[in-house]
Amino acid sequence: MTAATRILVLNSGSSSVKYQLLDMTDASRLAVGLVERIGEPASRFTHTPLFTGGETRVRAGAVADHAAALEAVADELAADGLGLDSPELAAIGHRVVHGGLMFTAPTVVDDAVLKEIERLVPVAPLHNPANITGIRTAQQLRPDLPQVAVFDTAFHTTMPEYAARYAIDVETADAHRIRRYGFHGTSHAYVSRRTAALLGKAPADVNVIVLHLGNGASASAVAGGVCVDTSMGLTPLEGLVMGTRSGDTDPAVIFHLSRVAGMSVDEIDVLLNKKSGLVGLCGDNDMREIVRRIDEGDESAGLAFAIYVQRLKKYIGAYAAVLGRVDAVAFTAGVGENSAPVREAAVAGLELLGLAVDPGLNAVRSDEARLISPAHSRVAVAVVPTDEELEIAQQVYALVNG
Ligand code: AMP
Repeated sequence: MTAATRILVLNSGSSSVKYQLLDMTDASRLAVGLVERIGEPASRFTHTPLFTGGETRVRAGAVADHAAALEAVADELAADGLGLDSPELAAIGHRVVHGGLMFTAPTVVDDAVLKEIERLVPVAPLHNPANITGIRTAQQLRPDLPQVAVFDTAFHTTMPEYAARYAIDVETADAHRIRRYGFHGTSHAYVSRRTAALLGKAPADVNVIVLHLGNGASASAVAGGVCVDTSMGLTPLEGLVMGTRSGDTDPAVIFHLSRVAGMSVDEIDVLLNKKSGLVGLCGDNDMREIVRRIDEGDESAGLAFAIYVQRLKKYIGAYAAVLGRVDAVAFTAGVGENSAPVREAAVAGLELLGLAVDPGLNAVRSDEARLISPAHSRVAVAVVPTDEELEIAQQVYALVNG
């Protein structure tokens, strides 16, 4: 009998499904794809069978819902001989954004688990419903197969109570499960471990500040492989300046906008989540475009960049204080992996903390994990490409193989 060594990783968003099929004997990717604009007349589906070096296939036309999207994914995989009915498929791993306090590790989904993910919808209204639909559809397609939920919050459940609690009335907070959960956990877990490996050390021996700077952005303080603080909170709105999210603001901004500007809670929600951050400050959320505009002397782009960097520095300083000893600062995700100007500016002036960037190393473009600090620096500065799908597949494979 063939051993089941393949893991399908599904990342179901509100209007998209991203997927990768991996073979865990060598962690290779057999196929990757993306269904976008689900529910719209002009959906778009791209599928690439990597194992044959095959070309990307693009399908246009309406994909009505997540069920139709997953059926289309199943069809494309079957066309490559990688169908979901294959005995080589060991499990399907689902990225689930909010796992609350209950889920501290990858979990095989049953009815009780689905109910709990549903109970968390009020704290993750944009994400958990799509994740639930993804799981239900996959269950229908392969009822016999383990469906495993991997939670974005799980890595942060080790945060001590004094880092996780807001300083608000305890009864109110507990009644409504208001606390800091943190997100991007699979990325912070993967990057902190990979950084330790880059330093030739065990994760248990290394303290790392991870800066996940994508369109969403978060920082975490990881002590000996364990998360002790992170910048996102009850929702992914808190913390760093992001593409479209404000990150930290005085909560009284919300009262003010309600009382003085007459805005509704929903309008303020959209303002802070979708129309703030870099896009709110200068009209662009792509860091490439912002840096290009700065080079042309654009003042609003310059100010947006400076606000973004100021926040990053504050978190680096705060997490250096939280950790006591820092072995490495690791940059990851779209901006962190690609933007040398952001990395240079974030570290500039932090010599006091032992931080510096070598301009030559920082300028090198590469897909590999690498050090960009000068030789003999007290603290390593690293660029570590994140790989959330591989991390999810590894966690799922480890779980189903006992
Ligand atoms: P992510 O959410 O990790 O996919 O990151 C997306 C963001 O990364 C984009 O909005 C850009 O701001 C940024 N990004 C991607 N490529 C580059 C690049 N070559 N240089 C600077 N920023 C980039």
